[in-house]
Amino acid sequence: MKIYLDDLKKLQGDFLNYSYRVNPKDINLENTGFYLKCPAIFNVEASYQGRELFLKGTIKTQLRTACSRCVSEFVFPLDIEFHDKFQNPGKSDDEDLDFDENFFQGESFNLRALLKEILIISLPLKPLCSSNCLGLCPVCGLNLNLEECKCEVSGVDPRLEDLKNFFEK
Ligand SMILES: [Zn+2]
Ligand SMILES: [Zn+2]
Repeated sequence: MKIYLDDLKKLQGDFLNYSYRVNPKDINLENTGFYLKCPAIFNVEASYQGRELFLKGTIKTQLRTACSRCVSEFVFPLDIEFHDKFQNPGKSDDEDLDFDENFFQGESFNLRALLKEILIISLPLKPLCSSNCLGLCPVCGLNLNLEECKCEVSGVDPRLEDLKNFFEK
């Protein structure tokens, strides 16, 4: 899963397409709590001109993770578009480099590393199985999406308070 600059240099700014189907075992999302459930479909268009590598494309896959409110495992579909620009400063280090840019060295670019990076930054910090997930009862720990309990809950968070009022109407 590499882009070789030689292939792109010949095209002088035109785009070349790369397509991959990456198996879950080949992508480790570190300690994000997310795991690939199916292969990731990764399409990239790349061009190279004036030491700049332009990349745009899409990533489509499904991940497994635990809901941050009710801790049930659920499937999180991901379908994203990205575009990125990387500079290859080459051998000379006396050039004026724009440090806001991303850099890469050498004559090839590692797409697997890019895929992993984009996936990780696209993951939500507090994944929810559903936007109206009721979570767990703070007293008895019951999953309130599945069952109702009779616990008296005081000092609940305002979001749950709204729900409580809603159900009492
Ligand atoms: Zn949930
Ligand atoms: Zn309860």
